[in-house]
Amino acid sequence: MGESLADPAEIVVPAGHGHALTLPAGALLTIRQTRGRQVVDLIAFRADDLTERLSPAHTMASLGRLWPRVGDSLLSNRRTPLLELVEDTVGRHDLTLAACDPWRYRYDYGVTEHPNCSDNFLAALRPRALQRHDLPPPVNLFQYLRYRADGRIDFRPSPARAGDHVTLRVLVPLLVAVSACPMDRNPINGGRPRDVALRITPPGD
Ligand SMILES: [Zn+2]
Repeated sequence: MGESLADPAEIVVPAGHGHALTLPAGALLTIRQTRGRQVVDLIAFRADDLTERLSPAHTMASLGRLWPRVGDSLLSNRRTPLLELVEDTVGRHDLTLAACDPWRYRYDYGVTEHPNCSDNFLAALRPRALQRHDLPPPVNLFQYLRYRADGRIDFRPSPARAGDHVTLRVLVPLLVAVSACPMDRNPINGGRPRDVALRITPPGD
């Protein structure tokens, strides 16, 4: 499990790996940095209808922003609010980029068989028999991209530090999967993927 600083009430997602959860409406999901500088890709599906998914593109359109702020809702592909961002100690995220996948490493970096978020989601969701084409685009929590005026993107190290976190309120029952992004070919994770920790607060607590 690596170098986790998580407490026993937390679920540690080891560096470069994924985890899936089913969460009831009203629950809070806190995603905490154990060492900092770690991007966490997050996807979500309505628990009762896996064809309705968290949609970064719909969310950006309705927010009129490239990433959410505290108080904003994250929407589905049918514009249903699925999650509300209720705490955020970092304030930088990305809704524009695809999850890393085997082809990202092969075509862009010349590396085969590299761990990747897409495979992590498939592994975490294996009991649901989801295929790669069933995976929606992710919300890239803690990812710091600089979007230049001429359209170029700078991939910057995540500004998240150890102990930083986001908390999301679950608005409808959800199947959620997260991946502690294994990217080590550009600087988004500070050059070395790290663990993150999850805490679930049940409804009403
Ligand atoms: Zn990734």
